[in-house]
Amino acid sequence: MTVEFEILQLGHPQLRQPAKPVEAILDPAFQRQLDDLFGFVMEKGGMGIAAPQVGISQQFFIMSSHPNERYPYAPDVEPFAVINPTILEVSDGQSKDWEGCLSLPGIRGLVPRADEIAVRFYNRDGELRETRYQGFLARVFQHEFDHLQGTVFLDRVETTREVMMEQEWRCRVAAQLS
Ligand SMILES: [Zn+2]
Repeated sequence: MTVEFEILQLGHPQLRQPAKPVEAILDPAFQRQLDDLFGFVMEKGGMGIAAPQVGISQQFFIMSSHPNERYPYAPDVEPFAVINPTILEVSDGQSKDWEGCLSLPGIRGLVPRADEIAVRFYNRDGELRETRYQGFLARVFQHEFDHLQGTVFLDRVETTREVMMEQEWRCRVAAQLS
């Protein structure tokens, strides 16, 4: 059975707080929380969710990239947990692309992000991972990482003219992609 989480909406102060590191990754209560969140994000069809979005002020998020109607070019990746992450390096090269967020429903923004990043984090088995991401996965990682600092994608758009309501975005942008 899927556990329901309340997704904090923009304006909720907890969404703006920097999260604290996870202390006991193998703790059964934490593992259970991860399982619940995995189920939840799969059901919502999101590309990821960060703990602060569901009121857990800890440094972890789930990446769950898969192609869908909105992001036909998204790589298909088995969902995985990213715990206590660090971004070690960002490329000089940046690209802009449209982002959305479960905490800002109905809004899309054109967000500049580094094309490639080198990162370090713990997986859910408590193992330290060092890897690089490019393109879409790098974008999702940076978006979710921002949530751990209390930052949302709207903070990063360069002009309010690059913000659209979901409905218009679907007609104008998503239509061109598919
Ligand atoms: Zn988000």
